[in-house]
Amino acid sequence: MQKVGFIGLGNMGGPMASNLLAKGYTVQAFDLSAAALAAAGDVEACESAAQAASGVDVLISMLPAGRHVRGLYLGDGNQAGLLDIVDPQTLVIDCSTIDPGSAQAVAAAAAQRSVAMLDAPVSGGTGGAQNGTLTFIVGGEAEVLARATPVLQAMGSNIFHAGDAGAGQIAKICNNMLLSILMAGTAEALALGVDQGLDPKVLSDIMKASSGGNWALNVYNPYPGVMDNVPAANNYSGGFLVDLMRKDLGLAMETAQASGSAIPMGALAQNLYQLHSANHGAGALDFSSIQMMYGAKDSRD
Ligand code: NAD
Repeated sequence: MQKVGFIGLGNMGGPMASNLLAKGYTVQAFDLSAAALAAAGDVEACESAAQAASGVDVLISMLPAGRHVRGLYLGDGNQAGLLDIVDPQTLVIDCSTIDPGSAQAVAAAAAQRSVAMLDAPVSGGTGGAQNGTLTFIVGGEAEVLARATPVLQAMGSNIFHAGDAGAGQIAKICNNMLLSILMAGTAEALALGVDQGLDPKVLSDIMKASSGGNWALNVYNPYPGVMDNVPAANNYSGGFLVDLMRKDLGLAMETAQASGSAIPMGALAQNLYQLHSANHGAGALDFSSIQMMYGAKDSRD
């Protein structure tokens, strides 16, 4: 599998396509944004999604949301969906984070046309995309995943098979809901300690070594001045944006609705992030900026 079609060259797709090029794949690519296409370096720029999908061994998409993925593969009234024109030998992998229902609908349409397809959302952020260390969380048939493994390994370092079509999206949504809850809880505990006169660094060290230890405390401390090389040390710039976390929490709410599941903690986290975005205009800040909802005194002051 040497020739890849790549659609969606944004913050994630651009560096993922660059890693494929670096690993010796030929990449023909399309993005609705001419600027994104131009920024993607040595990829062969195409004039349409259909052109990018033509004559390739693997077709990869990395788009914002479910409606973009449905429009691309199933058609949107103005143009035919790619599943109607792609060669059945082409392996199709959608890496976007979208609602499981859309992923399952597109996978079912692919199966009807005998096109092998996976949902393979990623974890690891833009750093993981740039460094080729993404985690792929895959839904679809095991044999199809075996075919896809070499091309996924060219962009990432961990590959998990979550289950059937759509399962990759479900696992990704569960993970990000938990992450938002852990981050908000960590920020809340740190703010309480600081309000009571504790040093946030000392409190963090204690909780890291105690039963409250978690990923946010260990590697992504939200309190300014505690840790270097995290968004909190840089006015919450970079990292994983509040708007993307809000999107993923919205997907968690929709998914819970579909299965009649209660997610009170996820709903609370969604509301906290919504308030944070409205109160602080924080959509483009890193999600650890939820610390601002609790007030945060920089311990270096
Ligand atoms: P982005 O907005 O930077 O890039 C999306 C690109 O898709 C844009 O360049 C846009 O022009 C293009 N696009 C949209 N519709 C298109 C179409 N029909 N045809 C061709 N191009 C089209 O978004 P991103 O940050 O790269 O995120 C992509 C996906 O990855 C999202 O689903 C996001 O939730 C997920 N994700 C992002 C991160 C992150 O940290 N940025 C981390 C994990 C997962």
